[in-house]
Amino acid sequence: HDNLLEIRNLKTYYPVKGGFFRRTVAHVKAVDDVSFEIKKGETLGLVGESGCGKSTAGRTILRLLNPTEGEILFDGTDITKLNGKSLRDARQDFQMVFQDPYASLNPMQMVGDIVSEPIRNFTGKSMKALKDEVIELLNRVGLPDDAYYKYAHEFSGGQRQRIGIARALALKPKLIVADEPVSALDVSVQSQVLNLLKELQNEFDLTYLFIAHDLSVVKHMSDRIGVMYLGNLVEISDKNDIYSEPLHPYTQALISAIPEADPKRKKERIVLQGDVPSPVNPPTGCPFHTRCPMAKEDCSKVKPTLKEVKPGHSVACILYD
Ligand code: SF4
Ligand code: MG
Repeated sequence: HDNLLEIRNLKTYYPVKGGFFRRTVAHVKAVDDVSFEIKKGETLGLVGESGCGKSTAGRTILRLLNPTEGEILFDGTDITKLNGKSLRDARQDFQMVFQDPYASLNPMQMVGDIVSEPIRNFTGKSMKALKDEVIELLNRVGLPDDAYYKYAHEFSGGQRQRIGIARALALKPKLIVADEPVSALDVSVQSQVLNLLKELQNEFDLTYLFIAHDLSVVKHMSDRIGVMYLGNLVEISDKNDIYSEPLHPYTQALISAIPEADPKRKKERIVLQGDVPSPVNPPTGCPFHTRCPMAKEDCSKVKPTLKEVKPGHSVACILYD
């Protein structure tokens, strides 16, 4: 297989409970029919505003959430069909690095305990038997030997994220889903953590799904970029193409909002009107039509599907039909 991951028509809906009997009265369509693939060794950046479904997509791909519909082919196996022991076995191959290194690590747990936990759960080995291996991992992410005996609360945000990365690497996974791994960190340490992730990718043959709300962060990290809006994937392409020639009006607005380093290269900022509609009641037709500066009459009637309009560059918009 060329593709490590193939997502086919993935939907993840959350029930909304209401009334005296707490019945399901509606659904949040967090991920609404999304398809894409990630090649082995590649980084796909997944971008969009908060609430667009990118984190839900990442969590569903790792089976931390159950999909409502669709297929998740991991190295050729549909992992939506797995449960119990078969899911546990498959799980060693995909891990997550979380957004908030303060919330995702127990502050009162010893670092050696945190990092060895996935291996202990999986192999039944003792902490003692794993100590050398865990210290080697800590060193590899830039932490000293004695970090092993310290507690997570003794570390800074950047160091905690390194601990989280060491834990994610412990089982030698093939895929890492990194959900905004630097957005909670000081700007001064962000690039250090991003560079570490890059180095580890080469060294451990990792494939990344890198989730971010910021197009400038994914530019540095990604080979390809997908843009989500209101539960839909609206554009996906090679990194360079999407920055030099964004096709979807929403992507064009996101690109126009990136500050330009060179003041001579002034560009016009596209300011979107209105708010993102509720994913409980998404608009008919194109999900972006309520805010799209290019919208036509048909846009509220027909939902555009993702189509490849140039090699490796797909977009969901009637302007390209
Ligand atoms: Fe805008 Fe219409 Fe294209 Fe949607 S389909 S992005 S509303 S032009
Ligand atoms: Mg999120």
